[in-house]
Amino acid sequence: MIIQLENTISPQNLDLLKREITNVKYSVNQVSTQMGNYLVCIGKDEFDIRSIGHLSGVKDIHRVNEIVKLVSRKWKTERSQIDLGDGVKVGDKNFAIMAGPCSIEGEEQIRSTVKQLVKSGVRIMRGGVYKPRSSPYSFRGMGMDGLKLFSELCKAEGIKIITEVMQVSQVEEMHDYIDIFQVGSRNSQNFNLLDALGGVDKPVLIKRGISGSIDELLYSAEYIFSGGNEKLMLCERGIRTYERAYRNTLDLNAVPILKEKSHLPVIVDPSHGIGLRQHMEPMALAATVAGADGLLLEIHEQPEIAFSDGQQTLNYREFEQLLEKIKIIKEVL
Ligand code: PEP
Ligand code: MN
Repeated sequence: MIIQLENTISPQNLDLLKREITNVKYSVNQVSTQMGNYLVCIGKDEFDIRSIGHLSGVKDIHRVNEIVKLVSRKWKTERSQIDLGDGVKVGDKNFAIMAGPCSIEGEEQIRSTVKQLVKSGVRIMRGGVYKPRSSPYSFRGMGMDGLKLFSELCKAEGIKIITEVMQVSQVEEMHDYIDIFQVGSRNSQNFNLLDALGGVDKPVLIKRGISGSIDELLYSAEYIFSGGNEKLMLCERGIRTYERAYRNTLDLNAVPILKEKSHLPVIVDPSHGIGLRQHMEPMALAATVAGADGLLLEIHEQPEIAFSDGQQTLNYREFEQLLEKIKIIKEVL
């Protein structure tokens, strides 16, 4: 059960409300986010919710018989939208392209990408400065020096930044230089990290775990929301299956399922989803048709010499072609 509180609720009325809830054998979890104040109440017994709904300070009350509560659509039927400022919005009819290299490599590469994004009218640039690599000998990112440069060059052109945060200690140091925190699939169930991101007022895009189920992704989002941050996006990026003909199995079934279960925007990452540059375009288009609210795309001026994931990265010409096709698909839809 979710109770949305009036912001003006008095401490006395809040106490009374909590007492009434515990009387019907429900536990009370108080959640305050940037947007509202809630009580998430967990229990099994049937009772007439009107007995609580009429109390002072209750704005709204809903039974949510789902495994997740605050991220569920059973409670919030309208679609959530993330406002990044300067007219950049994600979700609820705002289809967002987030494009850039797998890794930030240096000043020239950032400048070249920003130039391409401005040319294409894309407002969000991706690029990792802390890279989770399977091998410790692979390029592991430029760290904060890279992020500061990335931030400076993007800000100058009105481009927003999404980049991966790998551990709790990075949340604070990265905070002022980014617009969206990306939680990578390897960290999808790093609950300490999710708790830390619940405490910041910056949007978070959370990727599905490499072998994660849809429910596990929703639980992870619930962690951040219940920690106080409801600016969330879910991301399907492919899961590990027995099939080895491509890098991951992009589970496009997850798109309509997630949108049915949750009010949060759903972003698809076809780059990691299939892992093959020559097949990225149809998967990006399929994700668009499936109802994605946006795409996370790896692009590079010369994918052949990219420091990471070049094999799944589009060059600028391929990127422009894809954007053209997406435009046509959106019109048809
Ligand atoms: C990335 O976006 O570059 C990345 C490492 O993604 P994932 O966490 O999906 O592997
Ligand atoms: Mn990558």
